[in-house]
Amino acid sequence: MSILKILKEPDPILRKKSLPVKEVGRDIKKLMKDMLETMYAAPGIGLAAAQVGVLKRVVVIDISRDPKVKEPMCFINPEIIWKSDVYEKKEEGCLSIPDYFAEIKRPNACHVKYLNEKGQEKILQAEGLLATCIQHEIDHCDGILFIDYLSKLKKSFILKKLIKAKKNQ
Ligand code: ZN
Repeated sequence: MSILKILKEPDPILRKKSLPVKEVGRDIKKLMKDMLETMYAAPGIGLAAAQVGVLKRVVVIDISRDPKVKEPMCFINPEIIWKSDVYEKKEEGCLSIPDYFAEIKRPNACHVKYLNEKGQEKILQAEGLLATCIQHEIDHCDGILFIDYLSKLKKSFILKKLIKAKKNQ
């Protein structure tokens, strides 16, 4: 296993649409293991393959938040097949947008169809934090970041700071 480099906004790769995985082979399994290790090391609760520069529709999540109790979840080709009409505001952050958090409104529940690490089709009924997290990660697969939901003014403010932070690296 290895820790991968997490791309930071602004990076053109983060704005590209990821392609569906055709076959769940060894390369995808290795990618998911590396993504989990990278996410735990960051630390974060979710990571999409695009964030490590791989434009494939692969997402890993662990919302347990307890380092002793790991509950890794892997999603291949996740697709929202139903979402609630009830929207809820929750604070979001992103490993590609370090040090910024903002309240984002999203459906408070959703159903997600995906393939698991064995290539089997599954449906997850998510609510609360898990629903928020999976929607945030599926957005990454489509080149969308949470700051896109903010006002133009707020977004450009954050972008300017991120560009500055990158220059100072
Ligand atoms: Zn993110």
